[in-house]
Amino acid sequence: ILITALSSYLMARREFQIEQKFQRESAEKLGDIIRESVDLAYRTEGHQGIVKAVKTHATETGRLSYRWVWFDVSVNDPNRPAAPVETLGNILEGDTASVVTAHNGVNELKTYYPIDVAGDDADHPRKGAIEVSGSLESAWQGSWQAVKTGLFAMAAMTLFCIAFVAWSGIRLIGRPLGRLVDQTRRIGDGDYSTPLELKTGDEFSELAAALNQMSGKIADQQHRIENETTARMATMEQLRHADRLKTVGRLAAGIAHEIGTPLNVVSGRAGLIRSGRLSPEELAESAAAIQSEASRIESIVRQLLGFARHTPPHRKQVDLRGLLERTSQLLKTMAAKNGVEISLTFADDTPFTASVDESQIQQVVTNIMVNAIQAMPGGGEVTATLIHLAKTDNFSPHGSGMICIGIRDNGPGMDQETMDQIFEPFFTTKDVGQGTGLGLSIAYGIVEEHGGRITVESSPGKGTAFEIVLPRESSG
Ligand code: ADP
Ligand code: MG
Repeated sequence: ILITALSSYLMARREFQIEQKFQRESAEKLGDIIRESVDLAYRTEGHQGIVKAVKTHATETGRLSYRWVWFDVSVNDPNRPAAPVETLGNILEGDTASVVTAHNGVNELKTYYPIDVAGDDADHPRKGAIEVSGSLESAWQGSWQAVKTGLFAMAAMTLFCIAFVAWSGIRLIGRPLGRLVDQTRRIGDGDYSTPLELKTGDEFSELAAALNQMSGKIADQQHRIENETTARMATMEQLRHADRLKTVGRLAAGIAHEIGTPLNVVSGRAGLIRSGRLSPEELAESAAAIQSEASRIESIVRQLLGFARHTPPHRKQVDLRGLLERTSQLLKTMAAKNGVEISLTFADDTPFTASVDESQIQQVVTNIMVNAIQAMPGGGEVTATLIHLAKTDNFSPHGSGMICIGIRDNGPGMDQETMDQIFEPFFTTKDVGQGTGLGLSIAYGIVEEHGGRITVESSPGKGTAFEIVLPRESSG
């Protein structure tokens, strides 16, 4: 637009200059012709004589009109120049002048060619001039036409460009880009199997190829991760089972002793009955004793088997109070051997039920309690507690409230360096054959899987306190 405006302006100016030059030349030509004769014409016929002379010599072309004007007449005189003298520069000294005037809304260019007329007084000639007028409209019309043509061409070109850019933009960029966006969405949604075929032959098809390659790699990696995860889960499950069996072995040693007492009672009573020296009442009493001892043995064996059995993990509503009671019962013999006493304290009578895998949580509690017992070979106390944590508690991501199982002992405790490592697999401070170093790492894994956390507080000589926080509801 700027360039068109500038060129139009220059064009109009040129037209104007051509017109001005043409007027000047016409005025000078006429002036030169009549300069000699005006004095005589004026002297013989006065003003009319000059007018006549101008008329005869001027070649009226229709475009220009010629007139004789005086500078020394009054303002209202019809023979005064149409333009004021001040606008005509050095006209009175003999210079030709051009000026643009507006008459009834029509722009005219007027050129004045001054001629001195020697009247009565030769020393004071009258000042007059030939006035050549011509309309500028035709000249300006021409340039306005050129401007209009230029503007129209420009508008047409702009529209064409917009249309072309829009069309080619949609065809060359919009469509392939849309397909690429769709493809990335598909990949985001986990569909790696549909490759994108873009045959545009430019960067877009390169991008599509790269995208296909990427989704192929992601699919491979995902496959590998899935395989690895399955393998890892299987290994973890095996480790858990192995750890459990190890504990069972230790428990069995203690329990063999435990079973020994009821077995003595059973065989003693059986001997009494066999002797036939018992009264019917004594007979019934001995049979009842045998029955109760036998069922005690049976329950111990059943617990042991239940713990050792390899069961797949599955959650259900579990009463944690009962779970703690059963576990401490199971460990009683082992604890008694070390002179350790296990006591349970519960904050209130409300049920402590949580959606957990029973055998896994039992394994967690067992591992921690066994550690506590093993840490106190010279006797001590293990205390287990259950506390409800409110929903508003810092650590309650599931909104259903949490239950905290606390297990503390008054054993030797641990220093910070040991504490930093206890959850690492195979970390143990125990002799070979005594500890596997797996108990706490397995406990950690199980609690994590339940969406809970496990923490420890301890210092040398001050005992050890473990806290297991479990959400009451599984997070799904
Ligand atoms: P392991 O019992 O086979 O050594 P764990 O993972 O169960 O493996 O425990 C790791 C280590 O943590 C133990 O070797 C012990 O040093 C330390 N530890 C665990 N519980 C206690 C505790 N109650 N008191 C002192 N040390 C403990
Ligand atoms: Mg252990």
